Amino acid sequence: MQAEIITIGDELLIGQTVDTNSAWIGSELAKQGIKVQQITSITDQREHILSTLKQAESRSQLILITGGLGPTKDDITKATLCEYFNTTLSLNPEVLSEIEKYFYERNIDISQMNRDQALLPVDAKVIRNWQGTASGMWFEKEGRVFVSMPGVPYEMKAMMEESVLPMVRHYFNFIPRAFKTIMTVDLPESVLAEMIEDWEKKLRSEGFGLAYLPSPGIVKLRVTGQSENQKDATENVYKKVKEVQPIIERYIFGYDGISIQEVIGELLLERNATVSTAESCTSGYLASQITLVPGSSRYYLGSVIAYSYESKTAELNVDPDLLIKYGAVSEKVIIEMAKGIREKFGTDYGVATSGIAGPGGGTPDKPVGTVWIAISSESGVVSKRHYFGNDRKLNIQRTAIAAFSMLRKVIIDREDWL
Ligand code: ATP
Repeated sequence: MQAEIITIGDELLIGQTVDTNSAWIGSELAKQGIKVQQITSITDQREHILSTLKQAESRSQLILITGGLGPTKDDITKATLCEYFNTTLSLNPEVLSEIEKYFYERNIDISQMNRDQALLPVDAKVIRNWQGTASGMWFEKEGRVFVSMPGVPYEMKAMMEESVLPMVRHYFNFIPRAFKTIMTVDLPESVLAEMIEDWEKKLRSEGFGLAYLPSPGIVKLRVTGQSENQKDATENVYKKVKEVQPIIERYIFGYDGISIQEVIGELLLERNATVSTAESCTSGYLASQITLVPGSSRYYLGSVIAYSYESKTAELNVDPDLLIKYGAVSEKVIIEMAKGIREKFGTDYGVATSGIAGPGGGTPDKPVGTVWIAISSESGVVSKRHYFGNDRKLNIQRTAIAAFSMLRKVIIDREDWL
């Protein structure tokens, strides 16, 4: 079965609104095993909508549309859909009373335009919108389904989750599927694939699916299974995940899309512990990644961006002789930086990074991509040298992930995994 997504709205085409609806819908459909064939963003113009619907109908069985359902004149999706499906609007009394209630509860005067939102196509199933006033519409035509939903992302998402996805599964007679994503760090995709080769072979022979989803420093492994009922599908997938856990235990930092910074946050909160960072080559990137996590102020005390020799000495108490003798990208210096930041902020853990992000600055014994990372804690300092690549941005990202991974292992007392 093939699906496609049409997002309607002039604002999408002039760059005023980024089409996040398509990305979200695409990922939800992928989880159901539905292949998205095409994503199209179009203007609020009748002819444009009509021609796009026609093309979509020639290719796909499921067509999901968002946008243009509001009460204003520029929102013409509903009228155009009526034209396309050769149907008319009629007043839906239940929807009208919901809309009246919506306005009454918010103490806002209801206009005729708002009442008109209860005018819905005779030949469509109405999909209720519990977050707003624009109802969704479900049209069926020769085995194909067209669903029109509001453009407002949270209204669309609620409608998809509560109504559209279950209806799609039912209409197309889907076999229930389940997923579990294993989040791994520190291993390139190819090495990971080799480590789990036997498990993967067996997994596939038993009808499960496996996807490798790599990003800098991290590989997500998504296990998919299906069964006669949802409960069995979920349990079977969990069993398979349990089988692979011991093989790659030290590389698993979490499940289902959690970030490594979130995991660190949870670990620190459980232990009532704090962390600070001393950043040379990452220059604040660690800090910004840590503080993306809501509530990070409870465990993250701060950072020093020590980019120069002088700042390393003045802010982190690094011995200037070490800098001269070994250079900033060295084990001796990174250890001092990690100790210095921990002392400066009085935190339980101190993280330090120093490296040659590139593209220039490399030497034969310290090529571009050489990075030292150290973590200091009550039990001492651990440090590690990494060799990343030539890409500056990627080096910074990979340094951050490697530093978080080291920090995680120190927090959970698995320094033997470093
Ligand atoms: P409303 O009843 O609120 O008018 P609507 O169906 O008419 O709903 P639009 O007017 O198209 O929706 O858009 C409403 C809001 O949702 C706007 O702020 C718009 O920028 C946003 N929006 C619309 N389409 C998308 C999209 N594809 N991705 C992200 N945001 C979107």
